[in-house]
Amino acid sequence: MSLLDKATGNFWIDNGLVVLHRMLGGNDLPDDVNTVVQQIVNRIYVETGNRGEYWDEATNQVKTYNKRSWREPIGLFIKVVDSVPKVKIEGKDYYTRPPEPKLQISLKSSGRCDFCGAQGKVVDAKLYLFPFVVAPDKFGNFYSGARRGLNMCARCALAGFSAFESWLWRRQGSTYHFFLFHTDLERLSGLYESLIQHLQLESDTGGNFSVPFFGEYPFENLFALLLRLFAFLRQRESEGAPDSLLAELTGAQMVSGNPIVIYEISGTYGGQSFTMRALNQFDRFQPMYRLYSKWLERLAVDNPVRALEGVFRQFQHRRQKATETLWREQICRAILQQADPLPPVSAFLYEVSVEQEKPLVYGTLEVLETYLQEVIRMDEKLLNILRGFGFELGSQAAQKDEMGLLYALRNAKNLDQFLEVLNQIQFVLELTINPDLLRVEPGERIAGAPWNRVKTLLAIHAMNAYLRKKYPAQATTQGGEQ
Ligand SMILES: [Zn+2]
Repeated sequence: MSLLDKATGNFWIDNGLVVLHRMLGGNDLPDDVNTVVQQIVNRIYVETGNRGEYWDEATNQVKTYNKRSWREPIGLFIKVVDSVPKVKIEGKDYYTRPPEPKLQISLKSSGRCDFCGAQGKVVDAKLYLFPFVVAPDKFGNFYSGARRGLNMCARCALAGFSAFESWLWRRQGSTYHFFLFHTDLERLSGLYESLIQHLQLESDTGGNFSVPFFGEYPFENLFALLLRLFAFLRQRESEGAPDSLLAELTGAQMVSGNPIVIYEISGTYGGQSFTMRALNQFDRFQPMYRLYSKWLERLAVDNPVRALEGVFRQFQHRRQKATETLWREQICRAILQQADPLPPVSAFLYEVSVEQEKPLVYGTLEVLETYLQEVIRMDEKLLNILRGFGFELGSQAAQKDEMGLLYALRNAKNLDQFLEVLNQIQFVLELTINPDLLRVEPGERIAGAPWNRVKTLLAIHAMNAYLRKKYPAQATTQGGEQ
């Protein structure tokens, strides 16, 4: 029986089965599963580049050895210590041999595996076999069986230990984000071949895949992963004939099995244990890739992929030591949930860009308009009116030093206040308001859109034009810094 014959439905264990299948070259498990445990240890317990000393009792000499440790961040989940006897030589303590982690799967009691249902010998789930559930209070709703501990058969336990090699991860300070793909086993295995292994980097400082930006919040990191993934898909498409799984992700082919899902687990490491904070799922690859392609079409530059990444990268602000990325988180979250990203864009512009005397980077307005048109279904004509009028308004306000009017616009709390501010603008800046903006429809809508959204987009265009006029030298900056 192949390891891929029977899925467990659990994304952690299923990923481990795929890794194990690849590691064993398609062969079934050997009778002594601990030989495989040792193979996995050898892959993930690696030399640190530092050397240590121990007392070799056979020769009565101090010898050196290469220190090893768990590859980051696997060590968060492995709490196995080797208590090596020590000796005191000339006042100094030495190990009597290099420490080695003693990991063993000791199958004992007979029972039913909580993951695959197999009857037979089982082992209690340990943190390193199933990192996200062992302490029920940390993730109680994820798997209800956790309250009494979990039983694992040899196959599932080994898969659990293997799964660390399947994740993509990012760290920001003490916050970690782990990403795992899931679908049917055969398809998941194919996805490794054609996608996941290409995203994984060998060196892993702060993460094991490259991203245009990162931060401490979940949605911005998920979004960064998608940008990376889509850039890869686009590259493959341009090289011709991506395989069927990739074509499924881009929407070029129908989904032919269980949908591909990304699970994102976010949490913090407090020095003792990992505390899970959030679990997100994403499976809307086709519509997101369509949007991604529209964005790139709209960006009239040589390298639209980079320009697009720069648009999202900019929504961060360095304050003293830390970089605050809350605006980016809110924008990414809105887009991933098909909601309105304008309020956090406006907040960033009025709170950060003004302080930095810097307009939004090239492409921001194009990206927003494309999104509003494609996803929120905002009328193209209205978008054009707002862009044109916002530009005029911001430029005039800059010329007459009337920034206060822009804040009044942004702060309008209801439709009456909004119309009142438009009236003031007309009077103070001597601008004619397009009558379409004054035509209020039932439900406080303007040209089919909620008045509030119209106001926010107008305020964004206006302040951006204001900043461009005031600080033209900053206007061409491409994206923020990481
Ligand atoms: Zn099992």
